[in-house]
Amino acid sequence: MLRSIGADATEVRLPDHLAGLDGLIIPGGESTTLSRLMSLYRLREPVADMAASGKAVWGTCAGMIMLAAEITEEDPVPLAVMDVGVQRNAFGRQVDSFEQDLTIKGLGPHSYHAIFIRAPVIMRVGKEVDVLSALPDGRPVAVQQKNLLATAFHPELTADARMHRYFVAMAGGPAYDENAPLIESPRVRGRLVQDS
Ligand code: GLN
Repeated sequence: MLRSIGADATEVRLPDHLAGLDGLIIPGGESTTLSRLMSLYRLREPVADMAASGKAVWGTCAGMIMLAAEITEEDPVPLAVMDVGVQRNAFGRQVDSFEQDLTIKGLGPHSYHAIFIRAPVIMRVGKEVDVLSALPDGRPVAVQQKNLLATAFHPELTADARMHRYFVAMAGGPAYDENAPLIESPRVRGRLVQDS
């Protein structure tokens, strides 16, 4: 998705891979596994330092859990870089995953089709945290705290790259253009068609 909008993207597996990056996405997956692997590969401190240094860091789904100040369970151990409280698996089991059209502040006039896969939800937001989007019941699912972004949904699963454009702008890339086309990546669209 990042490459499809012209950003240079590389995978981070070891602390050395963080050198020279303008931003970092901690993706979805399974947060207790992310937590263990981040400890094992000594990524906790460098990622927390990166967040504290003002570089753009975006946590999506399990990645959002890792950014939180606190979570409602004992495992995983989050990085505690963002002033939010998060509940894991807030909507139930895998089969309770769902899709929801959201209004997201800053993305422009069109709604955003968000895919929640055994998703977490934000229970508490600190004073410095801006709520960009909430579910119809009012629970926040997209928040920003200066250089830090967190979304409860998986933004890479549709052909809508607006969240990625927004993040690339946060990381010092081209300013976000509210008039950019919604569906802009034939590569991503092709993959979705193939998978279905
Ligand atoms: N349920 C997962 C967790 O708690 C997150 C799911 C996801 O990232 N799609 O870690």
